[in-house]
Amino acid sequence: MNEPEHTKRPIWMRIPLTLQILIALILAIAFGIFLGGGNPTESNKVLIDNLAIPADLILKALRALAPPLILVAVLHTFMTAEIPGRAGRKLGILLITNTTVAIFIGLLVANILRPGRWGRLTPPTVIDAAAETSKLDPWGLIQDAIPKAILEPLVSNNVIQLIVIALSFGIVLRAIKSEMISQGKDGYKPIEDVVGILFEAVIRILGWVIALVPLAVFGIVSKTVAKEGFQPFISLGAFILAVLVALFLQGCYYLTRVKLESWVKPIDFLRGGTDAFLTAFSTSSSGATMPITFEVLQEKIGLRESSAALGSLVGANFNNDGTALYEAMSALFISQVLGQHLNLGQQFLVVLTSIFASVGAANIPNAGLVTMTLVFQSVGLPTQYIAVLVTVDWFLDRCRTAINVMGDMTVSTLIDGKKPKTQDNQLLG
Ligand code: ASP
Repeated sequence: MNEPEHTKRPIWMRIPLTLQILIALILAIAFGIFLGGGNPTESNKVLIDNLAIPADLILKALRALAPPLILVAVLHTFMTAEIPGRAGRKLGILLITNTTVAIFIGLLVANILRPGRWGRLTPPTVIDAAAETSKLDPWGLIQDAIPKAILEPLVSNNVIQLIVIALSFGIVLRAIKSEMISQGKDGYKPIEDVVGILFEAVIRILGWVIALVPLAVFGIVSKTVAKEGFQPFISLGAFILAVLVALFLQGCYYLTRVKLESWVKPIDFLRGGTDAFLTAFSTSSSGATMPITFEVLQEKIGLRESSAALGSLVGANFNNDGTALYEAMSALFISQVLGQHLNLGQQFLVVLTSIFASVGAANIPNAGLVTMTLVFQSVGLPTQYIAVLVTVDWFLDRCRTAINVMGDMTVSTLIDGKKPKTQDNQLLG
């Protein structure tokens, strides 16, 4: 009999990723201190600079994977999800409002607490000209949303253009599929299969890149400690705190909407949803949590099956409020750390690209980190600073995933409306 897959893997790979990252962090701090702890000697400088190479390569791979990931994730959702007409429109409005509120909460908290002011990082030598020049220009944004060629956004990494292309093809393929089904044809199936297989393939390749994250963390942390000591990490601590405050406020916003716009009591919502929140926190994947979310919405909170399905199975593919909030905050944080002020126009661009980037973020661990590269590029922030965020992503990913799931549950609850399903039976009776 074949040996089970997991026993064949080397010992290091059998350790959970979170633990690997923690081990890498500890080793990196020790190595960074050994190399100078803020006062490196001349002879160590070349070695220290080379420590950033794994992180640079990993970021390059993430940047390359982001566009195909977004494209196939959106196409896959449109081709496979069941979206009824009227409830579908309500779903769309809820997704947009919740995500926009999330981003504004994120930007507000980041602007008030200014976590990036707690420590400084050396600015990169080359700053993208777009960062210096972009102003609030809605007409320019609309013009820019249409790419010159269909494949251009895949190459230029323009997230808004990419989503325009993905949504257009998604909507059209969906319509063609429905027409074929009503005519009894099944010619759409090969396309559906190809999209499904490509989606799986991109996720698997992403898995290889993510497996190398501990190496990147080791390199970037030991380099930072060796060169600049612990000062940069003080601001990272402030950033974690700021993100937690913002996610907490987003949770309060959900509970307020649940209280005002549905029959469910917020306390029952929280109690009933505990299994889903804990699963989200422990897996860092709202996709893996999906079946549990669906179940608790029906069994513990008592929603109708159709409302539970819309929020937790359909909405979950587009609705990533925690991710949107996090991407916007990260952009602002890094701009603060670098002392590279983002004006109102640029912050608006951050809002827009974060909305699109969160729509395209697949429900898997660290997906937000992948699409974040596109948000940074849109306002000319240097993406190599995302490597700094990699060091805390293993924790913040868990927290924002729990909020992503809470967001899906809120959408389901609001769609369920002001009357519980028990009253449906009374009306019929
Ligand atoms: N891990 C998140 C989720 O599964 C996505 C992200 O990385 O933000 O919902």
